[in-house]
Amino acid sequence: MYKSCNILLHGLCFYCDDIVSCCYAPNDKIDGGIPPLLFHNYKGEIIPKDVLFKKIREYSDQFLNGKCPKECEGCFQIKEADWDEGEFINYITITHFSACNADCIYCSNNLNPEERTNKIYEIMPFLKYLKNEGVIKEDCEIHIGGGELTIYKECDELLEEFGMNGSTKIYIPTNAIKYSENLHKAMKSGSAHIIVSLDSGSKNLFKKIKRVDAFDKVVENLKKYSQDLTCPKISLKYIILPGINDSLKEFKKFIQIAKSINAYAIIDIDARYLRSVNNIINPIYLNLAKKMKAEAEKIGLFTELYSFLQQAMNQDFNPNITLKNIADYVSMKYLKKCVKKLYTEHRY
Ligand code: SF4
Ligand code: SF4
Repeated sequence: MYKSCNILLHGLCFYCDDIVSCCYAPNDKIDGGIPPLLFHNYKGEIIPKDVLFKKIREYSDQFLNGKCPKECEGCFQIKEADWDEGEFINYITITHFSACNADCIYCSNNLNPEERTNKIYEIMPFLKYLKNEGVIKEDCEIHIGGGELTIYKECDELLEEFGMNGSTKIYIPTNAIKYSENLHKAMKSGSAHIIVSLDSGSKNLFKKIKRVDAFDKVVENLKKYSQDLTCPKISLKYIILPGINDSLKEFKKFIQIAKSINAYAIIDIDARYLRSVNNIINPIYLNLAKKMKAEAEKIGLFTELYSFLQQAMNQDFNPNITLKNIADYVSMKYLKKCVKKLYTEHRY
């Protein structure tokens, strides 16, 4: 038994120009610290497996010797266990592409839409090599980040290679503007689970948030994706954007859509708002989230309060606050600086 991390021992993360271990950010929970760097200036070449694991061991041996790599300090993924030090990969993150067919006002991608690109290195030759060498476990988790997978050039190949066995678990955030036949097949196989941030229940608000007029298309595609699934494979997400969609009325429309496609409902809050208030969420939003959750559960939806909101739920809050008080409770600093600047210009 010793302290270490599964992702460090068995993870690969494809970043813009590097392969790193993970995309966790222990040094700065929102912006990201520097994760353990495996290969700098990566261009898609096939790295022999012994070279790969030698590099991984440079970090993992530090844990083995009772130390902690500086990149991992403070990371919540560290735990004490009987670690399997075998040479295999069971956790892959793909986040090196940034092109997207939406332009959400809260997107953490700093690039303007026209600067986002698919002109990046290919990952499939290396992944196929690792698969053929028996390095990638059948039940590997694959997490997608970056831009929109359905318009990424290797999307079909990736899903064909890893999405059809039902054992590999692929978690895919997608805006569902483009329907992908292979993605649907991967969902039907049991491998792929999609997370769609709809953040609204109506056309106009969707357009305001996603900055593309595609609400009807998205709902149509979600209906297609929900066909022929043996279990729910869609999470529909409502990110509370203070001053934009903090409305129970809108949320009620949203959950009707979620219900119609047999989705899980996820409630979250804009990460930039959290930053502006040092992660101390105004009670008005905690109450709103609880009311939303209760509404969703009333119609039989499995509902999760996600990430930051989940943490914040442990804060004390005043149950007497109602939505009528919203103007008094919203941080004016946030509204003036963040909403105006970030929601109109939306770049960090
Ligand atoms: S401990 Fe955290 S930072 Fe280090 S490899 Fe694991 S997940 Fe990444
Ligand atoms: S769909 Fe995702 S990647 Fe695309 S703009 Fe929205 S948040 Fe960014």
